[in-house]
Amino acid sequence: MNQPRLRLPYLPPRIEGLAALASNLWWSWSPDARNVFRRVDEPLWHLTKHNPLALLRRVDPARLAACATDPGFLALYDRVMDTARRALGSPDTWFHRHHPELARPVAYFCAEFGLHNSVPIYSGGLGILAGDHLKTASDLGLPLVGVGLFYTKGYFDQQLRIDGWQEDSDVRFDVDTTPLERVQDPGGEPFLTVVNTFGRPVHVGAWRMQVGRVPVYLLDTSLEQNDPADRDLSAKLYAGGPDMRLRQEWILGVGGVRVLRAAGVEPAAWHANEGHAAFMLIERLRELVVGGRPFAEAWAEVRARSIFTTHTPVPAGHDRFDVDQVLACAGPVWEELGITPEQFVAIGGHPEDDHPTYHMTATAIRLSARVNGVAQKHGEVSREIWRPMWPGLEADQVPIGAVTNGVHLPTWMSGHMRHLLDRHLGEGWLERRDEPSFWDAVLSVDDHELWNLHTEMKLSLFTFIREDARRRWTERWKEAAHVVGAGTLLSPGALTIGFARRFATYKRASLLFSDFDRLHDLLVNPWRPVQIVFAGKAHPEDQPGKEVLQEVYTFTRDPRLEGRVAFIEDYEMHLAHRLVQGVDLWLNVPRVPLEACGTSGMKAALNAVPQLSTLDGWWAEGYMGMNGWAIPTPLPEEPADEVDAGRLYDLLEDQVVPLYYKRDARGLPIEWLQRMKHALRHAGQHFTSRRMVQDYVRGYYAPAMRGETPASAPPT
Ligand SMILES: *Cc1c(COP(=O)(O)O)cnc(C)c1O
Repeated sequence: MNQPRLRLPYLPPRIEGLAALASNLWWSWSPDARNVFRRVDEPLWHLTKHNPLALLRRVDPARLAACATDPGFLALYDRVMDTARRALGSPDTWFHRHHPELARPVAYFCAEFGLHNSVPIYSGGLGILAGDHLKTASDLGLPLVGVGLFYTKGYFDQQLRIDGWQEDSDVRFDVDTTPLERVQDPGGEPFLTVVNTFGRPVHVGAWRMQVGRVPVYLLDTSLEQNDPADRDLSAKLYAGGPDMRLRQEWILGVGGVRVLRAAGVEPAAWHANEGHAAFMLIERLRELVVGGRPFAEAWAEVRARSIFTTHTPVPAGHDRFDVDQVLACAGPVWEELGITPEQFVAIGGHPEDDHPTYHMTATAIRLSARVNGVAQKHGEVSREIWRPMWPGLEADQVPIGAVTNGVHLPTWMSGHMRHLLDRHLGEGWLERRDEPSFWDAVLSVDDHELWNLHTEMKLSLFTFIREDARRRWTERWKEAAHVVGAGTLLSPGALTIGFARRFATYKRASLLFSDFDRLHDLLVNPWRPVQIVFAGKAHPEDQPGKEVLQEVYTFTRDPRLEGRVAFIEDYEMHLAHRLVQGVDLWLNVPRVPLEACGTSGMKAALNAVPQLSTLDGWWAEGYMGMNGWAIPTPLPEEPADEVDAGRLYDLLEDQVVPLYYKRDARGLPIEWLQRMKHALRHAGQHFTSRRMVQDYVRGYYAPAMRGETPASAPPT
């Protein structure tokens, strides 16, 4: 492990390794490492929302001294330090066994990284996926380097007014309680490179963070050398309108390549995760041309070593900018490229768009020989959407592939579930999980044990919800309605449905409320009660999304629903963990085909929570009958919302609720437990980020690292 340069209070020498442990996010996916910190001071561990650096700064020194002589603590400590050394240093990894000849890293560019709630530089699904990708690269020994932006203001805190309108507030986070360290140049200066944008030089520095074996560089422009207007450039995620966003993306792409060069990192392949990072391709093209390579050759070289992943089928989700703005932002880079401004903007032109618009996705597609969507169905949809870039090809010939997303098992599976599997499958089962038949053993887990474990997780969710409500009641809320709406009346015995995701209108959070009487009868049934827990933020600029949120929120306070609908504020990773581990059923109802993949249902499934979903995103390939329920896709001429709502109620009334309440003599829902086990087995087999990153290595990274150009036709 690297020695931390962070300033922490004095640690007794016997346990001084805690500082290094807390400084590498590897701790967050090691159950033993989490336990070590919990054992230092359990209430403080909860109060800091599992932040070991905050814990070590605040803990009573006498408590640390006691730990340093407690044999039980020391045994655990020694074991963790040993595991950490192996996990972070052993040369015998999956990647090395398969590709011993490939040593130079993949540079992975993304606008956000969701690694742990103590490092608030993410907003939602894209960031968390990127975070899971890095953790998995570390586990597999894949050499990879993350590049992103440093957001001093992090994500916004969600606060709901009494009428349910979302107010956004942002708080600067305290870097000292994160494992981020400033990167300095050899002279001790905090800036590493200069990027010209809008005719001005912007100095760019970086922060570095270790995610297991994987380093992440986060670019920062809040340096005193910069014009005050440029200092806040990287302060906030997706904020401030198109102009700000364009400059952020220019800094991310161009600054990212230069910071890697300054840090001495020499990637063999480059992955643009979503179009935000596409300027990284332009910068590499510029480097090669300035270095003397003919333009066409440089173009081919950039393509051969680049991978681009698109993440949404919603047209508005693809970044595009006004051409004049792009020229002002990037100028005069075309001079170094040896092309005209017109040729430069054509790199981001869309063949069917006659407005003068620059498309980030089109740029990334042109400059990456390997392009993919994030689920099989999303691959199909993407081939259809981007077909105009390959005139003459049928959609199924368009060279856009698919790698279905997955989630990081050690991050998302509860420690209790891992324990149960340790007992059932034998310690070390994580090493054997690549064998396809391995997961079948999950089907024979003891019913009683699994149900007890699930009940425990559910109770701990409800405790969490109550404590959260208690805190907000004390600190902020003025009216009791908030307390009811926050889920304090939920009862542990009732079938509990979870719905947590961004409040974008296509995700249809309010679909369940479309027939109030039917919903009322479903929820308010003394024999078979049902309750629903909602969480999620609307994008600060998404007014319709905020309206849906408000509508849902209103129902949490409707006395006719008896407090059986709850909304938990401030959806982030900490809450997400508790929700996906503690509810009985995960609900997902995007309007087909607008969900690219969706990952929260996979997180639930790894905790043996089945999903009910429309056949969109990953569920179109993930639903196999026993692992949950599916709402069939309406015909094109049918009114989708109405038809889907009717089928949702039918499924809940006729299948889900009866199955949940069907108990054997021991009080166990035997058939429900079967669904739980199948959910776990199928997700373990197919929807982990381990499978995802292995797919990237086989189909994308390894050939790109070797610089191979695929035979498929390049786009126009
Ligand atoms: C997993 C996760 C998401 C993404 O969930 P989707 O199902 O892909 O919408 C968003 N936010 C948080 C906090 C998450 O944990």
